[in-house]
Amino acid sequence: MGMIELEINGIQVQVPSGTTILDAAKKVQIKIPTLCYHPDLAPWAACGICVVKVEGSAKMLRACATPVAPGMKVITHDPEIVNVRRTVLELILSTHPNDCLQCPRSGNCELQKLAADFGIRDVPYEHRAMDLPTDESTPSIILNPEKCIKCGRCALVCQNMQNVWALEFLGRGENTRIAPSADVSLAESPCIKCGQCSAHCPVGAIYEKDDTRAVWDALADDDLHCVVQIAPAVRVAIGEAFGFEPGSLQTGRTYAALRRLGFDAIFDTNFGADLTIMEEGTEFVERFVNGHGALPLITSCCPSWTDYMEKYAPDFIDNFSSAKSPHEMMGSMSKTYYAKKMGLDPAKIYMVSVMPCTSKKYEITRTDEMFSSGYQDIDTVVTTRELSRMIKSAGIDFPNLPEEECDSILGEYSGAGTIFGATGGVMEAALRTAYNLITKKNLGDVNFMDVRGIEGVKEATIDVDGTPVKIAVAHQMANVEHVLDRVREAREKGEEMPYHFIEVMACRGGCVGGGGQPYGATDELRKKRASGLYTDDRGCAHRCSHENPEIQKIYSEFLGEPLGHLAHRYLHTTYRPRHLYAK
Ligand code: SF4
Ligand code: SF4
Ligand code: SF4
Repeated sequence: MGMIELEINGIQVQVPSGTTILDAAKKVQIKIPTLCYHPDLAPWAACGICVVKVEGSAKMLRACATPVAPGMKVITHDPEIVNVRRTVLELILSTHPNDCLQCPRSGNCELQKLAADFGIRDVPYEHRAMDLPTDESTPSIILNPEKCIKCGRCALVCQNMQNVWALEFLGRGENTRIAPSADVSLAESPCIKCGQCSAHCPVGAIYEKDDTRAVWDALADDDLHCVVQIAPAVRVAIGEAFGFEPGSLQTGRTYAALRRLGFDAIFDTNFGADLTIMEEGTEFVERFVNGHGALPLITSCCPSWTDYMEKYAPDFIDNFSSAKSPHEMMGSMSKTYYAKKMGLDPAKIYMVSVMPCTSKKYEITRTDEMFSSGYQDIDTVVTTRELSRMIKSAGIDFPNLPEEECDSILGEYSGAGTIFGATGGVMEAALRTAYNLITKKNLGDVNFMDVRGIEGVKEATIDVDGTPVKIAVAHQMANVEHVLDRVREAREKGEEMPYHFIEVMACRGGCVGGGGQPYGATDELRKKRASGLYTDDRGCAHRCSHENPEIQKIYSEFLGEPLGHLAHRYLHTTYRPRHLYAK
């Protein structure tokens, strides 16, 4: 790619051809303000706050969507440009509720920050905010269209990144509003609850449903035995809320914070991930070696993916692993195995999952199997963002906490369990154990580098002691159709399947980029979070799920065999086709 030389604010800069003015300016430490722009999305120049002057152009140009040209002379900041930007902001604020103190995005809002940066104290236009109802119909995300600034990020994410098309702009002119497609409620729409719209919205128009009140109430109830688990991806992201670098491993401090919040037992979803691998890995061997069940086997631990599949690809139901997701397995095990071992009444156990995910809030009542212990297996899900707020409001000095351990008997985890949080991690974990189950030997090198990284679809053939296993890993829903179509084509032609095993995660980068993680995810940040998980993996005493001593114990003391009678009762689920628009 050729390099282009230009001048920005009198500073010479050299960038690859095709670079936008916005990115070229970053290279020389100049920050042009943006609102509709997001690095995950193609720029569509909707808000106009990034305007700059380019010598020879009669009008100001939008830096996010204008590529650099040789010899270009750009001015990014002068009184006239700043005035135009101020006017853009004032016009937005003139139709905005401006009730920051009660807003879920307060302190973390891109509009609020820009208004502060520009020192806006009053707005010289008549205030005329729209009066629109808030949509609270899903258990995962809330849509407040009154706060929408029409930047379009959420709709672009939902349509182009997730291929769901649940959100669009309805109405015209000043009556334009963001809404679920066909103007139904979000619960009736094809929404898969991934929360990526909320993670990309710059303001408080779409946000996670806050369930912290229920957790505080449970913690204050002396009758309840409160247990909690943290998902793999939480530990490498929660530090961002407290000033740590993305990807810094905060497992021990998070355990300590949860203990100080008052939980009676601190568990780890990584243990549940190990359990999932025991079931899913055995399922794979049953299908691949013994021919019992459809191939390719498809992972099912992402509830947005299973929701998508039930709505958009029900022809793959037989291919899905029936293993529940790791946190659901933890829920049923805490109210059966743990309750029995500790002599506790399961009715008094209150299980909280801390997840990177808004979809897990929906999953906990998805089917009857989520009540397998005789009670709702998981009582409440809070996201990484919600837990950070709880820690702050409890006055816990997170950065200075000592690192603590989690509790036995649902806490010890292998490296395979922790990499679940990154795209490719479930596949890698499953291969580590499937190799052992198929060959009865342990792997020399447990690292499967082909499945790591941020490419949308990763395909590889793995040599399992002379037998080729063809795999595919897809993340971000829009990437999955390519994989599914290859399988459909082989089915139609009666050809050999292109894959034996497929992993799909709905969010870009996997759960490290989940819809409930701290704001501001980019590929760079997702990679740092994933790298934190691989560091955790390397530091684990056991790298494979089947080597985890507490996993061996739970099978010998309680569950019996993987895929056995009790495992089916507590650790597996079912799927059914669903209508795109709920009836
Ligand atoms: S969206 Fe931002 S600017 Fe608007 S009320 Fe909320 S915090 Fe304030
Ligand atoms: S949660 Fe996901 S599927 Fe639902 S509207 Fe948001 S981006 Fe679309
Ligand atoms: S990829 Fe992870 S965070 Fe995203 S919806 Fe699926 S399970 Fe949740």
